[in-house]
Amino acid sequence: MKRPNRMDRLKKVFIVGTVMGLAAGAVITLAASRIAFHARERSFTAENEELTKQNEELQAEVSRVQAVENSAELLKSDSENWALALVNEGHPLDTSYEPAELTEIESERSVDSRIAEPLQKMLDDAAQEGLSMYVASAYRPYDKQREVFNATMQDWINQGYSPLNSYDETKKSVAVPGTSEHATGLAVDIISSEYEELDDRQGDTDEQKWLMEHCWEYGFILRYPEDKGDVTGIIYEPWHYRYVGETAAKEITEQGITLEEYVLGQ
Ligand SMILES: [Zn+2]
Repeated sequence: MKRPNRMDRLKKVFIVGTVMGLAAGAVITLAASRIAFHARERSFTAENEELTKQNEELQAEVSRVQAVENSAELLKSDSENWALALVNEGHPLDTSYEPAELTEIESERSVDSRIAEPLQKMLDDAAQEGLSMYVASAYRPYDKQREVFNATMQDWINQGYSPLNSYDETKKSVAVPGTSEHATGLAVDIISSEYEELDDRQGDTDEQKWLMEHCWEYGFILRYPEDKGDVTGIIYEPWHYRYVGETAAKEITEQGITLEEYVLGQ
């Protein structure tokens, strides 16, 4: 029997060492490539998320431009942003616009049928809380708005104001025909049965406090908040609620902004 000499033993150690080294190297290379793969996968996912985000922002931008440019078209469209239509002094609504379908909420108080369910739910939930309120004004067509405006202006003229001054005074409390949100069918004036005056104190009633706190849950916003007159062009109206959809209502409320700021991005 041949006894392995020192040289043979060294060779064996060398070969085993090399094989083990190669195996370890392969494992390390494999692990490294997996790490690289995961890193690349992560960066693809991040890129994808970024692109999706940019795409969403662009879409939001497009719908906002649409909301401002042509309220009547937006209101009539199947677009999910129909509820964002902006109507104010600078963005009048086509005077021939009529909601496609109206639903009567209370006697002679109708709204665009698309908001009837959330509005009714809000009123029912408020009643459940023991609060007493009613819809004093809802959808108001252009002609009706013109009548209200002219009658109010006439009151000022009768008090001795010049027609121009009367027009300016009227504008503070009644929207100029064609610029009223009531023509969209998405706005309602809700009044406390405990206090029926349309002034700042309406906002102090339990009914308005509850509505201001909860209306966003039903897709509504208090459209003309206190201290936002310079943005909305309308004084504080603690009774005028506007449907904008649940997502927008939540965001507008959280950010403490107005519909103008929301759609114009100011
Ligand atoms: Zn109103």
